[in-house]
Amino acid sequence: MESVYMAGAYDQRLVALSVVVAILASYTALDVVGRMGERRDWRCYGWLAGGALALGTGVWAMHFVGMIAFRLPLDMGYDVDITSASWLMAVVACAFALNAVTHARLTRARLVVGASAMAAGIGGMHYTGMFAMRLHPGIEYTPTLVGVSLLIAFAASAVALRIASFLRQAQAGSRFGRKFLAALALGVAIAGMHYTGMAAAHFRVDSLFGASAKLDTVWLGTLVGASTVIFLAIALIVSILDRRLENSTSDLVASLSRANAELLHMSRHDPLTGLPNRALLNERIDKSLERWKSQGVGFAIAYIDLDGFKAINDHLGHRAGDKLLEQIALVLRDALTDGDVAARIGGDEFVVLMNDIADKDDARAVCTRMLKAISQVEYAGGELAASVGYALCPNDGADLDALITAADMAMYGGKLAGKNRVQRYREDMGARMSDDFALQSELRDAIRYGGLAVYFQPRFRTGDRRLVGAEALVRWPHPTRGFISPDRFIAIAERCGLITELEINVLDMVGGHIRAWLNDGLVVPPISVNLSAVRIRDESLPDQVQGCLERYRLDPAYISFEITESLAVREIAQARSALGRFKSMGIEVALDDFGTGYSSLFYLKQLPIQQLKIDRSFIADLPNISEPKAEIVEWIIRLSHQLQLRVVAEGVETEAQLAYLQRIGCDEVQGFLLSRPLPADRLLALLEREQGPIRVSGPMR
Ligand code: C2E
Ligand code: CA
Ligand code: CA
Repeated sequence: MESVYMAGAYDQRLVALSVVVAILASYTALDVVGRMGERRDWRCYGWLAGGALALGTGVWAMHFVGMIAFRLPLDMGYDVDITSASWLMAVVACAFALNAVTHARLTRARLVVGASAMAAGIGGMHYTGMFAMRLHPGIEYTPTLVGVSLLIAFAASAVALRIASFLRQAQAGSRFGRKFLAALALGVAIAGMHYTGMAAAHFRVDSLFGASAKLDTVWLGTLVGASTVIFLAIALIVSILDRRLENSTSDLVASLSRANAELLHMSRHDPLTGLPNRALLNERIDKSLERWKSQGVGFAIAYIDLDGFKAINDHLGHRAGDKLLEQIALVLRDALTDGDVAARIGGDEFVVLMNDIADKDDARAVCTRMLKAISQVEYAGGELAASVGYALCPNDGADLDALITAADMAMYGGKLAGKNRVQRYREDMGARMSDDFALQSELRDAIRYGGLAVYFQPRFRTGDRRLVGAEALVRWPHPTRGFISPDRFIAIAERCGLITELEINVLDMVGGHIRAWLNDGLVVPPISVNLSAVRIRDESLPDQVQGCLERYRLDPAYISFEITESLAVREIAQARSALGRFKSMGIEVALDDFGTGYSSLFYLKQLPIQQLKIDRSFIADLPNISEPKAEIVEWIIRLSHQLQLRVVAEGVETEAQLAYLQRIGCDEVQGFLLSRPLPADRLLALLEREQGPIRVSGPMR
């Protein structure tokens, strides 16, 4: 029985070519779409259009290559308008499908819509393309196969779009394989649809082509060539666009990372000095801790606090204070080696991480170097000083907080011990700090409710050992703790703002005793009162002194003051004006602890003082000290005399010392040898014994 349908045959090579075209088109489309960003801007739609164009054209070209691969025993032709419409249909459907799957998240609904659109596009294109042949009578289709063809188009599209969506999130490196897989799936969807659709189609033997155009091999060559050119052109344009984008992106990324780096720098550095701040310091310390744990390399932390910086700030202004801090940052950097980190962690507080520290002496040496560097920073009011505490890892602490706290406590301990010094952490410091806190309120009560007392340590003329004066020394007979060194509670009073009250209290007690002795008809020698560093800056100090003198009806000659050398030199401007006022009031001033601070004889000339007290640390070694050191003491005495200053030696404990001091011309001595500090009634007894029954009133000189 002869069939009413024509038998078609396929050219295998052309079939293969058609599949290749479909895959190539799919690949180009996916490549283009894969470059779309998250944001739906014009560039994104440009890519979408490019992808749709590539894919639509690919579907279309595939169809015609497939048609040419199919040989019917008659010449085939196509209607140009319908053919163009089928192309447009393919492109639009692809655009719709690609748009659906390129949202940030591919939901199931979007996938179904996208795959349906794709299938409709491919199917619509195919069957429209077939219709473009204008066959008479029309092509007959097997409905199930048509359904299958559309199902294949849908399923393969869904797979392809799913992969395409993954692609957009994937890393660049893993893209090619998946993109190729997706292109394969989509290519199969397009080709599979086509060939199943063709299997569904039956051409009657008596068919006539209504379309006139003839498709031959020349046409074919042109078509495949053109479509390939289109794909390549699109791919090329995309890659050019992309490179340009990548360039501008890399510019953006570069400036972004620059900004980021700056931000990072800012967040980890102190804006004023440019030194690392606490955050960066902590990081570095953590690194050092790791290094210690893995390699056993120890390190040290130093805590630096400037002495009297707040006063400088108040006096010279914040601008000058900032300048000083900047200078300190510079000298600290210079004093350190490369691996070390100096950080500013607060107003006038610095912390230094010292890596590559061999031992505690090494750490101390670095600290001393820093202290010296700071003391060389000059400003209008004199020179700077600081207290430096340090702690070693692992000896004094094995984690960040423990080490910084230990160094801080050591610094504080150094401050209490007399400032301007380097102090290593000791285990008892922690206990001491909380102890100091408790002492504060007890001290406040002692000052207010008469808990303090003054002792008097007499001073004697070296030659005839006659009593020529006494130093008032505050005492705190603590009900439960017993004796607390004034060095310690004075430092506490200075820190918590009690010092003014304390010293007014002392001055008052001294004034009261002098008045009582005078009333007893005694000749009273000048009593010297210690003035704290904080007090010399107090503008109201001369008035307070004047008030005390008036209250007890005292001649100014009964009172003199002692100020420490380091204080006078460091705050020379203030010291000079305060001491000048005392001088004009007729009150003498002694420079205390000479030799412990700056020992600058140059300053002696600039200060209105009448007395110089050589620190007891010099006297302790006399007369056995090496020649040059003894020579210094002699030299100080000689120079003082040239400046019309009387020289007092403190801490004279032996006859040998006294003899030596007499030989080199020291005017007065004070120390345990001749008298310990005495309570007021014992000094009274001493004065009475010295003066006998004959009493002359009036100040003694
Ligand atoms: P400073 O002004 O150097 O007072 C002399 C210190 O040396 C006193 O200690 C005294 O007891 C001690 N000393 C006297 N002779 C000898 C000796 O032969 N050998 C030894 N090793 N030491 C001797 P003190 O009373 O413990 O006072 C310590 C410091 O406390 C004083 O040192 C002074 O700076 C301060 N201070 C005492 N009272 C006051 C005060 O009322 N106001 C202020 N701002 N500071 C005071
Ligand atoms: Ca003194
Ligand atoms: Ca002294």
